[in-house]
Amino acid sequence: MMIQMLCAALLAAATSPAVVPAPQEMKVNEGTYSLKAETLERKDCRYTLDKSLPKEGYRLSITAGGIAVASADEAGRFYAEQTLRQLGEAKDGKLSYPRVEITDFPNFGWRGALLDEGRHFFGKETVKGMIDLMAYHKMNVLHWHLTEDQGWRIDIPGMPELVQYGSWRKESPCHGAKLKSYGNFRYESSALNGQKYGPFYYSEADLREVVAYAAARHIRVVPEIDIPGHMCSAIAAYPHLTCFPENVKERSARSDWGISTDVLCIGNDETVRFVERVFDFICDVFPSEVIHIGGDECPRINWEKCPKCRERMKKEGFTKAGQLQGWITRHIAVHLAKRGRRIMGWDEILADDAPKTAIGQSWRTQSGNGAGTALVGGAEAARLGYDMVMTPHTETYYDYYQGLTDDPFQYPGGMIPLKRAYAFDPCAGVVPEARKHILGSQAQMWSEYIWNEYDLQWKMWPRACAMAETLWTKPEKKNFDCFMKRMEIHRRRLIGMGVNCAPLR
Ligand SMILES: [Zn+2]
Repeated sequence: MMIQMLCAALLAAATSPAVVPAPQEMKVNEGTYSLKAETLERKDCRYTLDKSLPKEGYRLSITAGGIAVASADEAGRFYAEQTLRQLGEAKDGKLSYPRVEITDFPNFGWRGALLDEGRHFFGKETVKGMIDLMAYHKMNVLHWHLTEDQGWRIDIPGMPELVQYGSWRKESPCHGAKLKSYGNFRYESSALNGQKYGPFYYSEADLREVVAYAAARHIRVVPEIDIPGHMCSAIAAYPHLTCFPENVKERSARSDWGISTDVLCIGNDETVRFVERVFDFICDVFPSEVIHIGGDECPRINWEKCPKCRERMKKEGFTKAGQLQGWITRHIAVHLAKRGRRIMGWDEILADDAPKTAIGQSWRTQSGNGAGTALVGGAEAARLGYDMVMTPHTETYYDYYQGLTDDPFQYPGGMIPLKRAYAFDPCAGVVPEARKHILGSQAQMWSEYIWNEYDLQWKMWPRACAMAETLWTKPEKKNFDCFMKRMEIHRRRLIGMGVNCAPLR
């Protein structure tokens, strides 16, 4: 009975006011503080710096005398403002705030979301909208997946063929057969739809605009160019970059989803120069220290047969074609290090002797098998000394089903209801001495089955709220019941902002 009462009291304190992600420490006092204004401006708060606070941390004090913010840095000040946006209630020309004392800072430094624009292209206004929502939830990394078999989305000066051939496809898979119609969509068959998709791509100016927009909201953009697999769109532009150019029948990006065996030829020096030129452009445009080189799902079947690849293997003393992936990974790591950059790649790169400076992104499994096997578990990789971003697909791929009844949208499979998303722990299975290598996690928005912004928001929110709380709030402060109570209020806020937020379930 006592425990139940205590829980109820804790819940009441934690749910009101509803801040998402939950602050580390929040004391709610009696009464409110009101401003005679519709919106809060910087002049309405007293700002100070307090270097004793953790990085990105802030202290927010709302009393009868007004609003005071102390922060460790500019990001901390920005996050205090996001909390204020959630606390303020506008009514009758007044802004009313509960009197609170908050001390807050993030649990993880890498609080991200991945957006795949290879399969579907959303455009910079949607990306900016996503950045705004991420910032509102104190997330700080946009992992921007910009190239895929199904679309090359960046126009690189001096390489016009990339978008000429790679930024469009002849057709796309139809929406699933289950629904006959929803809005403007038709879900009639599982066949290809016969409709040209694209050309869609970003100019250099567009990319710079998004990077600046994100930076103003304390979000760094980590671009991904996925090599050496998932490269059909580049191979459409430059067929000589693959082992068997005669296999390239269509000079356009791939029309259906899946994994292609046509990958970059690692034995060809021209491929190496091509990859260097692409990453040089990426370094010119993106200030991020971390550059994502992909590395996932690369079949080696062509490398085994290709004379150039076999020649490279012989020269390097390799016994397995797979070692060529490690070779190109290390080559690009060295190339990028000259520009002060650090590579990041999907967990496949760790199985092929990636340098220890690489950041691994665990997607196939978190605990899994050890390094040196085909499958590297994130926890094991962290134990071996790799910095890791933990994104197991079973917990963090929000293109998967969310367990709603009568869900009008289509999903590739999987099942990540909100409760499962919330329960995810990036440090699960990680030995204490390796926890310093767990940088954080991300919400993954793969877009084979995401057609537009409306669809994207439905799948991202509210599950990304759960991710934001997992990454910001200390695990001992997390409580699903309390989260759901706050989310009842917070979801209404999101809907009020025009976000197509899915129901809580
Ligand atoms: Zn080859």
